[in-house]
Amino acid sequence: LHSCVFCELVAGRSPISIIAETDDVLALMDIQPVNPGHALVIPKRHLAFLADVDPALGGEIFAMGMRVAAALRICGVRCEGVNFFLADGEAAGQEIFHAHLHVFPRFAGDGFGLRFSPSYFALPVRSELDGAAGRIRATMDAANAGATT
Ligand SMILES: [Zn+2]
Repeated sequence: LHSCVFCELVAGRSPISIIAETDDVLALMDIQPVNPGHALVIPKRHLAFLADVDPALGGEIFAMGMRVAAALRICGVRCEGVNFFLADGEAAGQEIFHAHLHVFPRFAGDGFGLRFSPSYFALPVRSELDGAAGRIRATMDAANAGATT
């Protein structure tokens, strides 16, 4: 069958540094930290993509991330700010196909950053934003209608 690095960690077949866990989620140290203190929050079940995570479980993942973030700020690691990062899909930078939320400390001059495309600096006109909002809203409404019937 498939072999998933994170499922191996959850099963206890590889060494991990656990921060905290609940029945459904696990917070652990990333073995390749952006900065010291870099944590991951993962569902214990194998769920490849964000779309596979139900909203309640997503809430648990986020809540655990918030607890870790609060601790990072006062636990002694260098932490002037915190980033949450979730890569959903290969094009978004997902490398391990078991959904996971990165929670890592940031400080001025740490060398990490986001790179923007040239188009980022040409602001869209309002009608484009309204059009996009309308398409997204209609899609969400349709999904919602589907879910409740
Ligand atoms: Zn997995």
